[in-house]
Amino acid sequence: MARGQQKVQSQQKAAEKAAKLKKGHNANDQKKAAQKALQHICSICKAQMPDPKTYKQHFENKHPKMEMPEFLKDF
Ligand SMILES: [Zn+2]
Repeated sequence: MARGQQKVQSQQKAAEKAAKLKKGHNANDQKKAAQKALQHICSICKAQMPDPKTYKQHFENKHPKMEMPEFLKDF
């Protein structure tokens, strides 16, 4: 009986540990995404872009005569 109980407890602990790890991982991802979003600031007019694709469209529309940053050409 005691053995069975111990097994259940260790399973619960393992599940808790996994949940914590998962939670921490997600928090890190969100933080990274937020930091990444802030990095897309137009070098010409300093407008903030949510993603590179929007930045590229903005660049094409607002600054067609300016040279597009190299990393935007991939999007
Ligand atoms: Zn701009």
